[in-house]
Amino acid sequence: MKLTFENRTALVTGAGRGIGRAIAADLAAQGVRVICVSKSAGSCGSAAEAIRSAGGAAESLAVDVADGAAVAAACEKIQAEIGHVDILVNNAGITRDGLLFRMSSEDWESVLATNLTACFHWIKHLGRPMTQKRWGRIVNISSVIGLRGNAGQANYAAAKAGMIGLTKSVAREFAARKITCNALAPGFIETDMTAALAETAADAILANIPLKRYGTPADVAGLVTYLCSEEANYITGQVFTVDGGMVM
Ligand code: NAP
Repeated sequence: MKLTFENRTALVTGAGRGIGRAIAADLAAQGVRVICVSKSAGSCGSAAEAIRSAGGAAESLAVDVADGAAVAAACEKIQAEIGHVDILVNNAGITRDGLLFRMSSEDWESVLATNLTACFHWIKHLGRPMTQKRWGRIVNISSVIGLRGNAGQANYAAAKAGMIGLTKSVAREFAARKITCNALAPGFIETDMTAALAETAADAILANIPLKRYGTPADVAGLVTYLCSEEANYITGQVFTVDGGMVM
């Protein structure tokens, strides 16, 4: 479906692999210029190169999103060298699973910093110029785990639930400036993050998915692109599950 994007630039975190890479490619296919961010230069560089090879416009930037000072410096560099960012997709994320009594403070903090606090920093730095332009789109990639919790994932569930509260608050704060902010809660999507589980616990996972298959990064990307388009200008503060019917 051809959507409307009026000369827009997007920044996608975690664009090097998995869901973020699919989101970056999908936005680029609609004519959006995409800044691909990931932790390693090789990963975001190859995502940007793939977009350019397909005829799209993309740059890459290696940033550790868990480092607030690095995010601030990256935003300054982007505004000076690339220009205004209209669309922000907070997708970078990690898991460090373990039962709560065995979970280290380090595993708690790194998951909160990468999944949740990073969103605060990106929104703070890229959101202000959006308010001046009176147009913007922010999409945060949460998880069904943030809606229902999961044994062994207290850090990840807390971070993903936090992203939902952040999304709804930003939606309310920024609405007057025509900036929308929404969240997606994917279920089980086949990526590097879930590769080991998909092999070892396939029967148990599929038993809880009414559509009886894992999701693909493209299943998530299409909705993100729609939410970033002109057509989605009356949708804000929402959480969309993309999970084959796991959570109803
Ligand atoms: P993935 O395949 O593991 O890819 C994660 C991406 O995030 C990579 O590009 C990685 O960079 C980047 N990243 C991780 N830590 C970073 C950091 N500190 N700074 C910058 N970039 C960082 O993950 P995925 O499965 O696509 O997941 C993407 C998002 O969807 C995550 O927020 C995840 O929690 C969420 N989600 C996933 C699922 C699922 O089933 N897969 C379900 C629900 C929600 P490098 O490439 O440089 O390593």
